[in-house]
Parts: sequence; C-alpha cells; structure tokens
Amino acid sequence: MTDQQVILLLGPPGAGKGTQAIRLAESLELPHVATGDLFRENLAQATDLGMRAKGFMESGQLVPDELVLEMLFERVSRPDCASGYLLDGFPRTLPQAKALTGQLADQPVQTLLLEVPDDLLVDRAGGRLLCRGCNHIHHATHSAPRTEGVCDACGGELYRRKDDAPEVVTERLLVFQEQTQPVIDYYQERGSLVTIDGTQSPDEVFAALQARLSAGASPPGASA
Ligand code: ADP
Ligand code: ZN
Repeated sequence: MTDQQVILLLGPPGAGKGTQAIRLAESLELPHVATGDLFRENLAQATDLGMRAKGFMESGQLVPDELVLEMLFERVSRPDCASGYLLDGFPRTLPQAKALTGQLADQPVQTLLLEVPDDLLVDRAGGRLLCRGCNHIHHATHSAPRTEGVCDACGGELYRRKDDAPEVVTERLLVFQEQTQPVIDYYQERGSLVTIDGTQSPDEVFAALQARLSAGASPPGASA
C-alpha cells in the first residue's frame, strides 16, 4: 500500500479536530476516520466492541491499544481508503503511533497539530453538541444551531457527550498529557509535525490547515 495520502490531525480533546477533520476530508475528498466516532457508533449499536470500550470512554480513559488497532486497521483496509484517509483521534499512544508506522511500511504521513490552551478546551468541550445523524459539531454559544437541538447540517438530533462533563474533560486532558504528548514528540522527532494555532476561528484554522497542506506539511523523506 504505497502512494496513499495519509493525514493525521493531532491535538488535545476539544481542540477542534473533529470540526476541522470533517471540512478537510471533504475538501481533499478523503474519508474521515475518527476513532472516537467509530467507538460511539459501536456503542450506539451495542456491539461487542462498543461494550468493551464503554467504561473507558465514559470515564475519560483511553480504550486499550489492541481494541483500537484492530478496529482502525479494519476500517482503513476498506476500498474507500485505498488512495488515502484523514485520521482524527488516532494515534493517541506511542504504541499506536508505532503500529501505524509499521502498517504504512514507513511511508510518510502528514501530521498536523492543533494547539489550544487548557482553559479554552474545558469551555469548548462543556458547550459541545454532537449530531447523532452526521457527527457534525455545534457549540451551545460559539456555533449555536439555528434551531435548538437540531443539526444545521442534516436536521439530526443534537446531544451532549457524557465525557464532555467538566470532571471527565479534566481527566481527558491529563490522559492527553501523559499518553498523547509522547506521540507528538515522536512525530516531531521524525520531522513531520506542523503546528497550527487552534485558538483562531474555525474558518481561520481551516485556512491555516489548507495552506500548510498545500505547502507540503511533510517534506519528502522527512519521516523515513
Ligand atoms: P476527543 O473529543 O477527546 O478528541 P474522541 O471523540 O476522539 O474525543 O474520543 C472519545 C473517546 O474514545 C476517548 O476519550 C477514548 O476513550 C476513546 N478513543 C478514541 N480514540 C482512541 C484511541 N486512538 N485510543 C484509545 N482510545 C480512544
Ligand atoms: Zn447532522
């Protein structure tokens, strides 16, 4: 599997990965693969995988690597990912990052990091409203839906994630520092990390992401 365009969107919970990944995937015509969405779908359908992930997700912990890797590699082996894909929420641990490098046989990836300070993250997660229909993300004050409880994009029902409760968000931020910061360091060392200021408006962040991607987020050979 070579010549795939694989893009990673990294950043703490609430940094805006989901919002940006949906737009970016659409503009690049690549599938948006979000491990959090995949787990939530499994949970909603009460699959075995969903049931095994439930407790970890609801307490703000990470789902064990072996469950994540099995699900992720199955997803990206489907035909729609043949020419590439955009990963959102993966990798989140060093073993996940190394497993991805192995799976891609060291082919370079483009790695984008959204940076946002913690106080803003708690506010963003606290107001977040998610669509059951299309995974579109609204915010109760910053991007309120036109009709309360209804998704602007598809008319689906909006809900709050259980793990967006303030105490769980605090836990998720700790988990991010402990387990995902090493992933960021890993890509930085491999020379393929581009950092974007995630405190800007969604349109500004999107423009910055697009600019960095068209400029070549990862110089050839940088991550070899
Ligand atoms: P966030 O809004 O924090 O980016 P996600 O929607 O990506 O959250 O993920 C929600 C939850 O799903 C995580 O807190 C974790 O329990 C689980 N999860 C998602 N992706 C992974 C992963 N790559 N490794 C382990 N757990 C994951
Ligand atoms: Zn929707």
